[in-house]
Amino acid sequence: MKFRFLTLLLSFAIIATSCVSVQVSDNTVTSISSEVKTPKNIILLIGDGMGLSQVSAAIYYKDGKPNFERFSTIGLSKTSSASELVTDSAAGATVFSTGIKTYNGAIGVDKDTIAVPTIVEQLSKRGFATGIVATSSIQHATPASFYAHVKSRRMYEEITEFVPNSGVNFFAGGGLKYFNNRKDGKDLLATMRAKGYEVITDQLPTTPSEKNELILLAEDGMPKMSEGRGDFLPNATKLALEKLSKNEKGFFLMVEGSQIDWGGHDNDADYLIEELLDFDKTLGVALDFAKQNGETLIIVTADHETGGFTLASDGKDYNKIKPTFSTTGHSGTMVPVFAEGPGASLFNGIYESIEVYHKMMALIGE
Ligand code: MG
Ligand code: ZN
Repeated sequence: MKFRFLTLLLSFAIIATSCVSVQVSDNTVTSISSEVKTPKNIILLIGDGMGLSQVSAAIYYKDGKPNFERFSTIGLSKTSSASELVTDSAAGATVFSTGIKTYNGAIGVDKDTIAVPTIVEQLSKRGFATGIVATSSIQHATPASFYAHVKSRRMYEEITEFVPNSGVNFFAGGGLKYFNNRKDGKDLLATMRAKGYEVITDQLPTTPSEKNELILLAEDGMPKMSEGRGDFLPNATKLALEKLSKNEKGFFLMVEGSQIDWGGHDNDADYLIEELLDFDKTLGVALDFAKQNGETLIIVTADHETGGFTLASDGKDYNKIKPTFSTTGHSGTMVPVFAEGPGASLFNGIYESIEVYHKMMALIGE
């Protein structure tokens, strides 16, 4: 009789833990306890340099409703790095990929330049499919922080050497010259093919390959929207989702709207807004996929704000917006975090940027 009661209790315990959940105190994930649904897949979309004014530009400059408005959960992230109040994109991406604050310029390494395992490496080892899509080169600070470990973001050739053994199943972006036109003369495209990758350098395919894919459509950064990049970012995201979602265990996909930041550095509002609208379109692809899939958490955030961008009135007429900038560098304002899907509620509140990583890992952890 006692034994039977115990079995009953045990089976209840199994039912209860099949809906694993996470406890949050002071906006830091501490332990697994209260009821939160957990996702099978995570899509992390990073708008580099995308502060609240950049997001607001989608309201004023998009025909129709921005995809940003489709998110149910919004938080704010504090972006300072370990070395400076205002972060750069290397330290700013390393927080999302590793959960640690480091110095400006660091790619996947801590304050002592020691390599820290990234979310991509950890999940890849556990059988998740992984993908990286960017409108910069794939060696640029943001994407690089997810698979490489170097002491300085400018070490593009060294960063490229991490690609063949990264375990990443899908890359799309620019950065061809760091594979095949190197100072050391190595042909890393041959290395990639030997590792079983399909290397594509002409145009974005419409259907995914059975093999791992390395899609490099520019020597360095991808062209600007104004230079005819077209729908590369939404289409590469769609292709990545089609490929990665075939994996039973689940997937992690990082997508970067890299050039929102570059428009900010150039203090070029048209450039910034075109890149922002392209990113918004890409959100639509991710949201449509997740809605149908039902097991995918989407997180959209930024590493920092760029340009001190504002949507001020033109000074006389409050019906006229004249976008302005206060710096050609980054600023220290908090950036928004949008979340949708299983576990999204965890992203409410104000927290340090590293918590984005810790929340993702708590949700998709064993
Ligand atoms: Mg970037
Ligand atoms: Zn920047």
